[in-house]
Amino acid sequence: MSHCLPFSFELFPPRDASATDTLDDSLARLVAAGPSFVSVTYGASGSTRDGSLAVLRQLLAADARPMAHLTCVGLTVREASVLVRDFLDAGITRFLALRGDPPVDGAPLGDLGSASELVQLIQRVEAERAPYREIGREGRSVVAERPRAVEVAVAAFPNGHPGSGAGSARHDVDALLAKQAAGATLAITQLFFDPYDYERFVDLARSRGITIPIVPGIIIPDSARRLVRAAELANERPPAALLAALDGASPEDAERIGIDATVALVDELRHLAPSVHLYTFNRHRAALEVLRGVGSIAGASA
Ligand code: FAD
Repeated sequence: MSHCLPFSFELFPPRDASATDTLDDSLARLVAAGPSFVSVTYGASGSTRDGSLAVLRQLLAADARPMAHLTCVGLTVREASVLVRDFLDAGITRFLALRGDPPVDGAPLGDLGSASELVQLIQRVEAERAPYREIGREGRSVVAERPRAVEVAVAAFPNGHPGSGAGSARHDVDALLAKQAAGATLAITQLFFDPYDYERFVDLARSRGITIPIVPGIIIPDSARRLVRAAELANERPPAALLAALDGASPEDAERIGIDATVALVDELRHLAPSVHLYTFNRHRAALEVLRGVGSIAGASA
């Protein structure tokens, strides 16, 4: 019998009042499904700082293990430290540390050159806030411990980061190795469409000494527009047959096509991946349908 694959979700901060209502409804239903964690994106150069924190607080209140995405591009070390401290003060202990995309307007790149440096900074800021705790005495010396209080995840790119050039699998694995060495304990991948891309990347990562879990990031391509846009972001070519099927389909048919394609992909990944991370675009229905389709949750459709 196949095992029940754990799952997590990605949300983004809503842009207006009607998007806030949609998110509130989806968040409650997604949390009720029992994700391992729920991550919340962070707009480049801090544009969604307050909105991200608001969603993270909602998740904290719902006991839903929030994970805050943070980017460091354009920030000084001092600004990045303040940002991390603000999130820690809000009660956040899980982070997805990202460099972020360099500004297109040529604005300064900031002090932190890579996600690895942000991974280190998050741990340093947290350590400064939480001093060692005395746990006993041996003779005249005090025995103290500082339990690891933050978990830091990072991004991984099975088909290469757009900035690292063609044929860069090894380069991207080395970048991930640097993030692990900096203290990252989990990697979440950029989307991909072919399970073999994930398998090949994980094999290479393991052969280069990467031991942290590498969780596939999955979109549900429920419209031709979403598929094309997601593929562009990931520097990927959209699968031709799927694009043809979605093109011209009614919204209902397109959603069903997207769900079926995602169930098929997750079924192929279930023996390779520790869990799956679903990019929900703040909508619960398709995400929960996929999880029902792969047997991760039970019950009737919403
Ligand atoms: P890094 O790991 O620092 O570097 C990215 C790549 O650049 C590496 O894989 C490597 O190929 C190359 N590289 C790194 N260092 C060097 C070097 N020294 N020399 C040459 N090449 C190098 N963006 C947002 O703005 N907000 C978000 O919330 C967000 N969430 C994301 C979630 C996931 C799961 C993923 C996969 C991406 C997300 N992004 C987000 C996008 C991300 O910010 C961009 O991809 C960004 O360009 C790189 O960030 P990184 O953390 O991967 O950077």
